[in-house]
Amino acid sequence: MNDLLTQINQVNIPSFTLCRQNNALQKELLECFLHVVDGGIFVLYENVKALEDKIASFCQSHYGIGVASGSDALDLSLLACDIGSGDEVITTPFTFFATAASISRVGAKPVFVDIDPETWNIDANLIEEKITQKTKAIIPVHLFGCPAEMDLITQVAKSNKLRVIEDAAQAIGAKYHGQRVGSFGDTGCFSFFPTKNLGAFGDGGMVVTKNPQIADQIKLLRIHGAKRKYCHDILGYNSRLDELQAAILNLKFKYTELWTQRRREIALLYNSLFQEHIKTGRLSVKLPQEPDYAYHVYHQYTIQTSERHQLQDYLRSLGIASTVYYPIPLHLQKVYSSLGYSQGDFPVSEIACNEVLSLPMFPELTDEEVAIVVDKIADFFAR
Ligand SMILES: *Cc1c(COP(=O)(O)O)cnc(C)c1O
Repeated sequence: MNDLLTQINQVNIPSFTLCRQNNALQKELLECFLHVVDGGIFVLYENVKALEDKIASFCQSHYGIGVASGSDALDLSLLACDIGSGDEVITTPFTFFATAASISRVGAKPVFVDIDPETWNIDANLIEEKITQKTKAIIPVHLFGCPAEMDLITQVAKSNKLRVIEDAAQAIGAKYHGQRVGSFGDTGCFSFFPTKNLGAFGDGGMVVTKNPQIADQIKLLRIHGAKRKYCHDILGYNSRLDELQAAILNLKFKYTELWTQRRREIALLYNSLFQEHIKTGRLSVKLPQEPDYAYHVYHQYTIQTSERHQLQDYLRSLGIASTVYYPIPLHLQKVYSSLGYSQGDFPVSEIACNEVLSLPMFPELTDEEVAIVVDKIADFFAR
């Protein structure tokens, strides 16, 4: 009897899953896999080249350089812009760790700037006051798929002769005033980690740039600093993109715009169902914002509530998964204790870390599942 009761009340809605997509694409994926195996060339070949051209043109940029991960895309961008020891780079404390880690890895110092409470992206109006003689670059992050304020960021960068490296890992296809993210900065960095909007079956990344010198430099850096085999001009890395991953990405790229449209449809549905409850005054959550300038690609659908912890437990008990991106702002991470920041330095980021909750979001999520998630959240607030 107990079992039966839990079965009736229990649903199983994942935060994210690739199973549905992989099942639908199984035949195409197997063909693509066999094609690469039969071809017998496994790194930096025709599939990578085709993907580089496609992503560069899709992002309204000029050159695409396939690399081993989104993290490497950031590292190599900083190196190609000649940023290293003694330099400072401005970024947001409310992002995935890789953004700031890349700054530290090249020997530079991350300098954090608090976020805008509406978009959770870097507050462009607070950047100027953090600029010093040592500042060399800004890394805006298009968090959760919502573009950062690129006009203001580009302006402040230009008037202070700073580089802009866009962390677009979560935002492929997003637009700011109609222009694709990744095409504003000196470079745009993308990740093909499996959970990203365009994901491989393992790690992968890409840098896009309009600057031919930066493109050449990143091409050198990703392959041991060698233009010709065994002739090493600079100290480089092994950061290549595999043919198999590129072939899978070329296949999935065909569906990216459709999947993005579906993500946007799901976000609209969440919004309108939530609005119904918000109108009655019984539900107090802040919904994700899409500013006038933005074409949001909803890598995440993230809400904000002071009862985040209890809400997440409640949903979990019903079989609905949700995720906290991100629980600890980067200025309070142990690894950054030496930077000398403390609690209270970036209040908007700190509140976000305590209150955000990302709900199930992937293109194959059904309308019924969205409705269940919203109903259960409404139940939680009505209890
Ligand atoms: C995923 C991600 C990265 C890193 O990409 P990887 O491919 O996992 O190395 C960097 N920045 C942000 C904001 C990300 O979400």
